[in-house]
Amino acid sequence: MLRDKIRKTDTLIPLNEIYESIQGEGLLVGTPSVFIRLQGCNLRCPWCDQPEALSFKGNLVKLSDIKKELEKLTARHAVITGGEPFAHKELPKLVELLLEENFSVQIETNGTLWVEGMERFAKDIHITCSPKGVARYYVNPNILKYAKELKFVVDEELTPEILLRKEFLPFLEEKRVVLQPESNRKDMMEKALKLQRELLKKGFIVRVIPQIHKCFDLK
Ligand code: SF4
Repeated sequence: MLRDKIRKTDTLIPLNEIYESIQGEGLLVGTPSVFIRLQGCNLRCPWCDQPEALSFKGNLVKLSDIKKELEKLTARHAVITGGEPFAHKELPKLVELLLEENFSVQIETNGTLWVEGMERFAKDIHITCSPKGVARYYVNPNILKYAKELKFVVDEELTPEILLRKEFLPFLEEKRVVLQPESNRKDMMEKALKLQRELLKKGFIVRVIPQIHKCFDLK
């Protein structure tokens, strides 16, 4: 038992950074949050705002050291982001630690991957899936099954036909779709409102939410 515990806290996590801010995106916008940014992503979006987190080369940090870092922070909502969190087989161990430490847990993912062992946590956490044009908006079936929201970045590529794809309809029907204008660009805000109107005519309510943390000059 003790040996299991030691092995678990010695797990190495590819970490880019940990910091405290507010959740600036999606349905949980405004929530005080600890961001745990993992290192490495399988995609390369043209407008990615985390270029330093894309390479898989980076710091390997012990889970026990992450635990110590979390103890210094105030927020009790943890957002695992990246890079791409599901690119790492260690993800279930990190989620387990956070739940044991009484954090509510959110994972931000591009939706293309899945990690075995996440099924047992999937219903207790908030998965935000942001399908990406560079992956032709492909979403892994497990992410479709467990995600609580779809957050689409409104860029040149996004169209009403993509939003109305069969696999995304359950999210539209349950009002769990967010449109986020790329980099808070004015032209993309206008496009987001236009997409929102077009979907409304088809009977679907989607939310338009810009990146709120940028309004406060926060990370
Ligand atoms: S999926 Fe996210 S982290 Fe990866 S390249 Fe795209 S925006 Fe950047």
